[in-house]
Amino acid sequence: MSTVVEKAAGKPVSKAAPSPDIDWSTAEAAELYRVDAWSDGFFRINEAGHVAVTPLPDSEIEIDLPRVVEDIRARNVSLPALIRFQDILQARVRRLNEAFREAIADAGYRNRYRGVYPIKVNQLHEVVEEVLEAGRPYGMGLECGSKAELVAALPHLEDDDALLVCNGVKDVMMLRSILAAQRLGKQVIPVVEKFSEFEEIMRLGAEMQLEPRFGARIRLATEGSGRWEASGGDRSKFGLSLPELVTLIERLENKGSLNAFVLLHFHLGSQIADIQILKSAVKEIAQCYAQLLKRNVPIRYLDVGGGLGVSHDAPDSPSDYAVHYSLQEYANAVVFGVREVCEEQDVEQPVLISESGRAMTAHHSVLVVEVLGAYPKDFIDDDFKPGKEDHVTVHRLFDVWNRLKRTKKTRRTGNRAVRAVDELLEAYHDAIELRRDASARFGMGYLPLEQKALTEQLFWSASMEILTRLSDHDLDVMPPEFQVLEEQLAEHYLCDFSVFQSIIDHWAIGQSFPILPIDRLDERPTRRAVLVDLTCDSDGKVSHYVSSNPDKRFIELHRLRNGEPYYLGFFMMGAYQDIMGDAHNLFGRVAEAHVYADAEEPGGYYIEKILPAMTIEEMLASVQYFPNDLQRRMNQIIRQKVEAGVIRPRVGTELLEQYMRHFSQSTYVDAQGTPATTTRLNAAKKEDAAP
Ligand SMILES: *Cc1c(COP(=O)(O)O)cnc(C)c1O
Repeated sequence: MSTVVEKAAGKPVSKAAPSPDIDWSTAEAAELYRVDAWSDGFFRINEAGHVAVTPLPDSEIEIDLPRVVEDIRARNVSLPALIRFQDILQARVRRLNEAFREAIADAGYRNRYRGVYPIKVNQLHEVVEEVLEAGRPYGMGLECGSKAELVAALPHLEDDDALLVCNGVKDVMMLRSILAAQRLGKQVIPVVEKFSEFEEIMRLGAEMQLEPRFGARIRLATEGSGRWEASGGDRSKFGLSLPELVTLIERLENKGSLNAFVLLHFHLGSQIADIQILKSAVKEIAQCYAQLLKRNVPIRYLDVGGGLGVSHDAPDSPSDYAVHYSLQEYANAVVFGVREVCEEQDVEQPVLISESGRAMTAHHSVLVVEVLGAYPKDFIDDDFKPGKEDHVTVHRLFDVWNRLKRTKKTRRTGNRAVRAVDELLEAYHDAIELRRDASARFGMGYLPLEQKALTEQLFWSASMEILTRLSDHDLDVMPPEFQVLEEQLAEHYLCDFSVFQSIIDHWAIGQSFPILPIDRLDERPTRRAVLVDLTCDSDGKVSHYVSSNPDKRFIELHRLRNGEPYYLGFFMMGAYQDIMGDAHNLFGRVAEAHVYADAEEPGGYYIEKILPAMTIEEMLASVQYFPNDLQRRMNQIIRQKVEAGVIRPRVGTELLEQYMRHFSQSTYVDAQGTPATTTRLNAAKKEDAAP
């Protein structure tokens, strides 16, 4: 506890001794973790080697992330914690709207843009309110996709003009509420996803004696791309086919109700990877629109759905999660595309709607997770020297390791790098041969257990030295021999979080999220790590990373230091992640802090709100275990033991109290008081002894 208290009292975070390694700068750290590619300018690495947040685009305010973490810890918030930078959320909302404004001005487009925020992306009340507030000057509305979302969204339509677009499968009750809202004068527009919904809307309209208004989702020929491609195109689950659309119009004509049909919609799926696909979908829907207008269907709104992507990686990355267009390019594609078709067809230009969710919310929240311990290979003590009693194989492995350690640390390029790598390969082959030799001798009973253990430790230390030396050089590709080694030498960093709770898309669809230490970034990270979580599940690990390193199965991290917490930031958490997590292993919602920038406050920010993590009691209640019942059962067991004389009554009472104390606690690990801490300290001690 002491380190935390000390730091919370405002003392500067202790700085590392200057790295003994060759040059390393915070710019290199930024490059390694691709900060420029995903941060959209909201995050950077400052001179102190900390992650700094610049939430206000036009201001100098820079918030030190480690400082915020110390601050919330000092308020007894347990980690993992989600930190929301509400200013970033607002800035993204403005950026989206401004991009459309600019496109509209450039294109001379003769109508406006009305974005709607799809609340499924992050339903947290504060997020929705923040989006609405920042979007108010632009007439921003909401989108909902289920009954519960409709219930949540409806009361937020303060302005009669604000749009609420209702997608998803709608039952009669939901449609009734939507039409009731229309009667109130609200712009609530159900989007017909299935033909039967259209029939139901018309029936309800007649019953409620009002002329309903609705939109329709069109199944375009253009297919989406990337992970969510099945959301669009002929195979998509939702939307009307063109024959259905024709039937629908005929029905409306017969009833004389053409005015009811006001909106056309498509949705290509999230994270549209290729702007060309969007462009062709926009053309297609605009053609539909123009045709309908010519048939006297007075469509007013053209809704291009969601899918505006955010990049998680650099554009040159082979990863699926690099997005190859900017926000402005997206807005231009929509505005210019629709204008072109409308001009060709000589029809009025519609109000443009997009349902961009991810693009608004992804950047604003960061999950901060503490590393509980590192589980390295068994390395040899740094000052080890073999004695006369040690086996010759031990001596020879020691020579290999020692030679590597003494190699001069210089960066080499070109042919000199190739030669250096050849030397390392030779050393590696020697080490492998000696290890094999040791195994053979051991198998035949010629090598005692302790000597065999020493050869193992020396082998891993030599291998680690080789990898460290390799990282000194500029290599385009890692020789295949060493790739195996990287995998074998990767350390498991045990993190206090659940992959399933907090980065569900990583587990479910393999999305990479930017992850980096929030501190010590002025120090070369010397460890290759794989992050593992608390769940008892072999999938509970992060299996690929956003990194400039071609091998993305690992993340470069620092050695843990004795008694000093090591925090990782998981970025781009604001869209989908923090609301989709399930109750895997009963780790519930993490704690949250809502941070606002404020130049008048020390550190340039204040914490507006803290939402505590889910308690064990709340988590258990969600799966039907209740404290009363559990207490009764536990009490019964204890009483039996007291009666049988196994424990004294006083001890029994203490045991029950101790058990009951759990209910009010967080489901996550208390890093300050667990066996995992011991592991961390041991690992750190051992590592501190290493070079
Ligand atoms: C999920 C969804 C969205 C949001 O998509 P983003 O990629 O987050 O912008 C928008 N519209 C519909 C119909 C959706 O299903």
